[in-house]
Amino acid sequence: MNSDFLRDKAIETQCVQAGYYPENQDARVMPIVQSTTYKFDTADELGDVFDLKVAANMYTRLGNPTLNWLEEKIAVLEGGVGAVTTSSGQSANLFAIINITKTGEHVIAMSNLYGGTHTLLGTQLKKFGIDVEFVDPHEPLERMKQRVRRETRLVFAETLGNPALDVLDFAKVSELARFADVPLVVDNTFPTPYLCKPFEFGANIVTHSTTKYMDGHATSVGGVVVDGGNFNWDNGKYPELTTPDLDYHGLVYTESFGPAAFIAKTRAGLLRDIGATMSPMNAFLTNLGLETLHLRMERHSENALRVAKYLEAHEKVEWVNYPGLESSKDYELAQKYLPKGCAGIVSFGPKGGSAGARKVIDTLQLATLVTHVGDIRTHTIHPASTTHRQLSEEQLIAAGVKPDLIRLNVGIENIDDILADLEAGLAKL
Ligand SMILES: *Cc1c(COP(=O)(O)O)cnc(C)c1O
Repeated sequence: MNSDFLRDKAIETQCVQAGYYPENQDARVMPIVQSTTYKFDTADELGDVFDLKVAANMYTRLGNPTLNWLEEKIAVLEGGVGAVTTSSGQSANLFAIINITKTGEHVIAMSNLYGGTHTLLGTQLKKFGIDVEFVDPHEPLERMKQRVRRETRLVFAETLGNPALDVLDFAKVSELARFADVPLVVDNTFPTPYLCKPFEFGANIVTHSTTKYMDGHATSVGGVVVDGGNFNWDNGKYPELTTPDLDYHGLVYTESFGPAAFIAKTRAGLLRDIGATMSPMNAFLTNLGLETLHLRMERHSENALRVAKYLEAHEKVEWVNYPGLESSKDYELAQKYLPKGCAGIVSFGPKGGSAGARKVIDTLQLATLVTHVGDIRTHTIHPASTTHRQLSEEQLIAAGVKPDLIRLNVGIENIDDILADLEAGLAKL
């Protein structure tokens, strides 16, 4: 068994089997290689590794067998040419952007992003002189195209916006990226490749916070950048990929790594210099989670749809947002891009505004209050006073976060128990 064998298989099989391919008498289960270093026989051999002439692990900041196996699995799941794991979803998004942008350049990002990504792009990257322009994802394509500049280097979006749950209009946004002749970078954290594979819809780079559904058990913070290998970097905009890298004796990424140039540079440049490396232990746990991703995503989606329908019919609920509901403004986009289900996150507003929302959260018992999503356990959070509290009221509205919004992470417990908990909580209003 190897990567080629598994690339043709169904995603359920890939979840279980891809990534780690043991040979005769090797451990059957992916081992944790808890070592920072690797032994070499000769100085020349190690020298070649430093020059990127030979792919081998020499120091765990840049690569480790356990990380490599997980990266291989995620690349297979997404249908990409390669992946780099990172210490968090934040560093994955940072890497995906700064790998190909620098001071004076411009990024077009949808405005409905995860709060942490919003501040990463709008605050931190801005400090480095990268001009991130946030755009209403519902804006017409023609208006979006007018925002493209000579300095534009990428378009950034989330498949399912966190927490507004807008479904990305891939046709529109990938057309924008093609028009600008820049890659479309998509954070696919919420759907995971089980529910949506962005490379099939025009994305060129995919990122994840593996902390969420990929791990699934709330044990490990992590991230990953996946390269679709489907963008032509040779258009004059990406000299860092198409001209000699003096740090590596004049190596040219597009010449040495072909379609995997982007991801090779992510590892050789960013992991080397910034060092936001995932730990082997976290990679082991994330892989363990991925082995059941298909089963979990199916149940999360099924339970969430039941919860959304229940809330929609409830007299103490003002509104419900779940793209799987026929009443959702994004129902058609969800049918098109998320036909297997819309994952486990439902947002809703109970009667009584922000105070009502906090009261419901405080009275639920099965659904605990935590800062997390994508866990097998049912959870709640009140984004306006927590994950998104740094944003101004204007930014909150742009991000789709109403003051009364409860974000419910619907777990994989028995659906009747989840509904009974919500019933008891709403009864207190
Ligand atoms: C959580 C999250 C992130 C950040 O990931 P961390 O692993 O917490 O650093 C980025 N994007 C989305 C969509 C997320 O949900």
